Amino acid sequence: MQSVIITGAGIGIGQATARAFANAGYHVVLTDVLEKEGNATAEEIKGNGGSAEFHVLDVRSTEAVNAVVADVERRIGPLDVAVGNAGIAHRAPILEMTDEKWDQTHEIDLKGIFRLARAVGAGMKKRGSGNIVGISSMMGPIYGWDERTHYSAAKAGVTGLIRGLAVELGRHGIRANAIAPGYIRSAQTLSRENSIGPEGLDAVADIVPLQRAGMPDDIADVVLFLASQSARYITGQVIVVDGGLQVGRY
Ligand code: NDP
Repeated sequence: MQSVIITGAGIGIGQATARAFANAGYHVVLTDVLEKEGNATAEEIKGNGGSAEFHVLDVRSTEAVNAVVADVERRIGPLDVAVGNAGIAHRAPILEMTDEKWDQTHEIDLKGIFRLARAVGAGMKKRGSGNIVGISSMMGPIYGWDERTHYSAAKAGVTGLIRGLAVELGRHGIRANAIAPGYIRSAQTLSRENSIGPEGLDAVADIVPLQRAGMPDDIADVVLFLASQSARYITGQVIVVDGGLQVGRY
């Protein structure tokens, strides 16, 4: 049975990704800082006949990331797929941005993926195969986002990290790709304080060619595709999944 580890898997895009991989027959290692939600999702998967386990994991801790990966590898061997999904998007106008605020976003959104890739990379290299998928965003490699410069910088950083990983690890049979989601309905975007809120999500229908905000499973299915044999010759890419927002005129 193939295996996948996903960070931030208790809710939103990570949760949808966990369900998608479970439905595809993977053993799913869910991790999150949200213990209740992560456990509930793992139980739901098992209740539906799937295979899953949950670990509390804060991706800011190198020791914790290494420990979870080592524990899983001891029991089931090297992971087949690692999905760096955990992320925060906090509003912070640049003139009020503290170093701590800046670093917090980078520690989670960018360095969290580095820590995960480093932890799973050794086992994947030894076996000669593996897949790493990092969740970036439109708001970095494509658009800037006012009052979230730390987020835009970290998400643009994810694309550089993924490209570097693809070049360095390709010779070991490991592929690395990123997804840049557009507006996806989740706790992150539903926050009026930090993001566009429910009204904003409804309004994006006017500027998105496919006329709706995305749903978490719109992203999850692309993660699954990137990790699959169907994507065997794709590496180092940033796949935009935005309902056409980027190419539209508005
Ligand atoms: P959610 O807020 O719904 O889910 C993110 C998950 O990551 C939450 O469970 C969150 O917990 C968790 N998390 C936060 N900090 C840490 C940490 N230090 N260690 C481990 N887990 C953590 O967001 P989405 O599902 O929308 O986002 C998933 C990813 O997709 C993120 O990287 C996000 O930036 C990216 N993205 C989302 C878009 C969207 O429109 N929704 C668009 C583009 C990119 P908690 O709730 O406690 O913070």
